[in-house]
Parts: sequence; C-alpha cells; structure tokens
Amino acid sequence: MPNKTPKKTFVPHNRPTLGRQEEKMAIEVIRSGWIAQGTAVENFENEICHYLGLPSGSAVAVSSGTAALYMTLAIYDAKEKNIAIPYYCCSSLRNATTLAGGIPLLVDSRIDSPNINIDAIDPSIDIAIIPHLFGIPQKISKGTSNTYFIEDCAQSLGAHIDGVRVGLQGDVGIFSFYATKLITSGGQGGMIVSRDPAFIKELKDYRTCNQKDAQKNRFNFQMTDIQAAIGRAQLQQFTKFMKRREEIYLQYTDANFPLLNAESNIQPVRFRAILQTPRQTEIISELAKNNIAAVIPIQQSELIGSTENYPNASNWIHNTVSLPIYPSLRNEDVKRIIKIVKELL
Ligand SMILES: *Cc1c(COP(=O)(O)O)cnc(C)c1O
Repeated sequence: MPNKTPKKTFVPHNRPTLGRQEEKMAIEVIRSGWIAQGTAVENFENEICHYLGLPSGSAVAVSSGTAALYMTLAIYDAKEKNIAIPYYCCSSLRNATTLAGGIPLLVDSRIDSPNINIDAIDPSIDIAIIPHLFGIPQKISKGTSNTYFIEDCAQSLGAHIDGVRVGLQGDVGIFSFYATKLITSGGQGGMIVSRDPAFIKELKDYRTCNQKDAQKNRFNFQMTDIQAAIGRAQLQQFTKFMKRREEIYLQYTDANFPLLNAESNIQPVRFRAILQTPRQTEIISELAKNNIAAVIPIQQSELIGSTENYPNASNWIHNTVSLPIYPSLRNEDVKRIIKIVKELL
C-alpha cells in the first residue's frame, strides 16, 4: 500500500463564525412570515446603540458599509465637494465618494500606522472619511475645524480610544457586516450611527423609496429581517469572538511575531494579525504550500495611481502580510502557522 499522508485541511485567511444561534434566530424570522425590514432590523439597530452607549434610535441599518458611506455623503450633499480619503484603503471609500459626486483628495498613511494621517488633512476640507484599519483606531478631534468627520469603523467595532468607543468620535460612524468582518449580518449589511436625530430621520427616509411622496429621490438600501436576525445573534456572541481573536493574537506575539499594534491609550480589536515584514512573497507562498492562506492586506493594484506621493502607504503596501485570525481558527493551525513563519522571519 502506498504511504498516504493525510491531506492537511485548507486554512482560509478568514471565515465567518456561524452556528446554531444564527440558525435559530434566522428561522424564527422565516417562520414569522415577515422577512423584509421590520422589527428584527429595529431591534438590531437598538442593540448596536446599546453596545456603543448611544440612545435607542441613533442607528440606521442598511444594505452594506459602502451604502452607509454613500448615503451619508449624499445626505451631506457631497456633490462637487472635496472629500479627504486615505490613499491606502479598500476601494469602497473611493467608490462611495465618486458615486456621490464628490472629489476624492487622497491622503497618505501615518508613518507609525497604516491609518490615514489626520494631521495632513487640510483643515478647510469639507468632509473627511477616517477608517480605523485592521482594528486599530486613531483619535479624531474636530478642534475648531468645520470639517465633517465620517468615522469608518468597518474593521473596528468594539475598539476604544481614551475610553471612547469608535463610532462616537466623529460626526457619524459607519459599520460593515460583510461576511468576513468582525460580525456579519448574513454576508452583507451595514449600519450608520449618529447623535443627530435630524440626520437619522433623513437616512431612514432615504433608504426606502416605496410608498413615499414623489417630491424627492430616494433609493432602496434596506437590510432584511433575516439579515438582522443573524446580525443580532452575532452581536450576542461578540465578546466571546473577541476573546478568541485576542488569544490567537497573543499566540502570535508570544512567538515574537512583529505584529502591528497600538499605543497604550488605544484598545484595538484583533480584526487582522498584520505581520510587519519585507518577506511578503516568501511567507505567503510557503504558507500556501502548506494549504494556509495569508494575504497582502491591501495591494498596489487596488489603489489609484503610483505610490510616489504616498511614501508611508508604500511602506505599508510592501511590508505587511495578513495572517489568519478568526474565532474558528484552531490552535493546531495557529501552531502550524507559527512554525512555518518563524523559520522565515
Ligand atoms: C469592508 C469595508 C468597507 C465596505 O463595507 P461593505 O459592507 O463591504 O460595503 C468600508 N470601509 C472599510 C474600511 C472596510 O473594511
């Protein structure tokens, strides 16, 4: 008999954590006979408010994080306005900005963090979108500027800075519940939070176009009750999810992996385990040979134009590898990753 070595199971870079609780809550909605935007959506909105420490009614669930950005820009009349966005970020920000008719002004990252360099944003700019990348937040202080700050918390639900949860520092906070974010509302979904009741009212009006007066343009950006039920189940388990992510993060740092981290006044969430290394291709291909997926978190090809004017972003593009980190990742797989990567560092 040939000597068969068992094929190691594939370890994806990321995967959603879905189980009985999601099934149960989604089935309840299906059996109720009401699956479109309804009470489950409203409950999910208010549970997010409660989690963030906002009064009920301060959140609006929508179909995606990109929709959340677009709607915010549309209501703030971004047309032909200058909008500061990071050069180094997912394309969602650019797409929402251009769709809303805004003029994107690309800003470099910080030298010590992949986040946008807020200090380099012209204080006379109309609107700035500030993402907290990879779960690492940065402080936003409005100061005396008239800039309208949109805090993009798609990768950082639950992170704090100086004791304040992200989403509450800017004028508005947006979240994504895409399949591989910290929690998911069944594959797609988003949320907008704000302390401004008039803005919340406008958002709610804008996300539904059925049976409305004909005086205004609106669109369909709704979340369904099935999605909201899954999002609610995920939020209930969020503390447990975060604990598991932290455990994995610590296993990597105990192995002396140079992972991206934050200063002591910042409580990040472990959305990504970002290895700081110039040996991107060697590490990614060696892991791939072992059936483990690691990726370059944001690649040059996803960004517009050359890195010439964005030296810090260029550093983050070329010197980072994102390792698997998610609640269902098994310790034996973390150990395998550590063994393989350690030899290459
Ligand atoms: C995922 C993400 C978005 C977009 O969210 P979608 O729900 O995928 O549309 C926006 N900004 C950041 C930083 C993200 O990570």
